[in-house]
Amino acid sequence: MVSEKSNSKIFHGIGASPGIVIGEARVADRSRVVVVEASIAPEEIPAEVARFHTALRKAKEDLHALKEQIAATRGNEHLYVIDTHLMILDDSMLTSETIGFIEQERINAEGALKRTLRKFKEFFEGIEDEYLRERGSDVETVVERVLRNMLGKRQELLTDRDGRFVIVAHDLSPADILQVDKDKVIGFVTDLGGKTSHTAIVSRSLEIPAVVGLERITSEVSDGDPIIVDGAKGLVIIDPDEETFRDYLRQKQYFEYRERELLKLKDLPAETVDGHRILLKGNAEFVEEVPSIRKHGGEGIGLYRTEMLFIGRTTIPDEEEQYRAYAEVVRQMAPYPVTIRTLDVGGDKFVENLNLDDELNPALGLRAIRLSLRCPELFKTQLRAILRASAHGKVKVFFPMISGVGEIRAAKALLEEAKQELRNASVPFDEGIEIGIMIETPSAVLIADLLAREVDFFSVGTNDLIQYSLAIDRTNEHLSELYEPLHPAVLRSLKYVAEAAHAAGIPVCMCGEMAGEPNYLPILLGLGFDELSMNAVSIPKVKKILRRCSRGDAAGLAAQVLSFPTASEVESYLQTQITTRLSESFD
Ligand code: PEP
Ligand code: MG
Repeated sequence: MVSEKSNSKIFHGIGASPGIVIGEARVADRSRVVVVEASIAPEEIPAEVARFHTALRKAKEDLHALKEQIAATRGNEHLYVIDTHLMILDDSMLTSETIGFIEQERINAEGALKRTLRKFKEFFEGIEDEYLRERGSDVETVVERVLRNMLGKRQELLTDRDGRFVIVAHDLSPADILQVDKDKVIGFVTDLGGKTSHTAIVSRSLEIPAVVGLERITSEVSDGDPIIVDGAKGLVIIDPDEETFRDYLRQKQYFEYRERELLKLKDLPAETVDGHRILLKGNAEFVEEVPSIRKHGGEGIGLYRTEMLFIGRTTIPDEEEQYRAYAEVVRQMAPYPVTIRTLDVGGDKFVENLNLDDELNPALGLRAIRLSLRCPELFKTQLRAILRASAHGKVKVFFPMISGVGEIRAAKALLEEAKQELRNASVPFDEGIEIGIMIETPSAVLIADLLAREVDFFSVGTNDLIQYSLAIDRTNEHLSELYEPLHPAVLRSLKYVAEAAHAAGIPVCMCGEMAGEPNYLPILLGLGFDELSMNAVSIPKVKKILRRCSRGDAAGLAAQVLSFPTASEVESYLQTQITTRLSESFD
């Protein structure tokens, strides 16, 4: 979307990484190479196969060189991205399919590779889960690299240029982002991408402001254009007029001042004025996010999403690979705990020999714990890996999308089997590992009292709970105003779940996005939440409000808003309370 104010052009995209930057645009040529498919004679087949192998080898060499360069400049923490790309290059399907096309269809190597890419893309595009779907772009990036080698086109490195600038690109791979020198590249804006794309996640963890999903920003911007990026609001302004420029300069200074002030809270306890403590933790998908959680004062990881390890690849990570990944997160977060969620994918795409992908309604289909219980060996492999990681620090495990007691009992039985297998092999793990569940279905809310008897903790996943309670697809941008966290049905559910947990003597956590919204804190405190887990940068903002609240007042406020008939009444009441009583708003 684009609007104009004087000569300025304002673009509205998706805020992927917060922060304001003002600078100069540099348009990066990340355009796709143009491939012409051509027929070949049978005697040309060996030469085409050899050309493909050479380009593949060169791509691997380039990636190894890039890996060394990144390791030297940034350390080892982000190298998983390059490793993922190397794994894709090593994938036997990529090679066999391409050679198959060259030999059977008698087409040139680039045409064959492009056809293989199409097959991979169809596979990824069929995935309902946005997060997993976007992993298809890793395959595209890797294939692009091989194609460029075949066609002799070198891709410009983002580090090739001097100065400080905002990169404007059609799309950027995480490897592109990892190459950049933070002293030179102050922001990113792209045509493609969503909030959960690798690029967005890596920008957030490097704390470089970014706006993605702008659709056609590359055709509207030229090298050297003055540009403002507001990564929180998802806004990009080209050629700002003087008034806008001054306004953003003030906003930027204020944003930076506020971030610095907030970081001062890092070591202060997350407690109310009347001494009530709440645990504030970070959500993470990668080990690379741990430093940011620590920097923002997180007291552990309240939700470690394990899906990342399973995506963008055709093989399933084995126990050893999973164990190494989980153990590394646990070691880096120690002495704080890490709550690891078992696999929450929306289909069977990454499980070989199963063909369950044509679901009419995948959000209500074979996902999360349902898939794990349907594939017990896959599940037990993951459980053994998590248990082994528990020997390196405090680990808790929890199951997503629970809708009834039967699922918990079945999951616990498999956990017990996994434990026994480790005992038999004398492999150490924490015998007392705590077991929890996500509360994210309306049925789990309604039987929270029954579920609470079965587990050590609850973690409320409001992202899904709101979607399923209000019957609003969480990914549908056309329904976004109906997706209301403060809907009375949601608030009543939260109250009921917190009461059921406490009646059974177990803690209740929230790890959905709602937990990181500072203005909601008084309600969550008032309802009795013991722990909130959120994206790292929200931790100090939530802590600041928490440290100004009293538990008693918050309980009164929660009781009051629970009687309001609409979300907008709750919202405006909260807004006034926060601005008048706590004298700050975090809009
Ligand atoms: C949730 O549903 O609130 C949640 C935290 O899980 P996810 O966003 O991974 O579905
Ligand atoms: Mg969920």
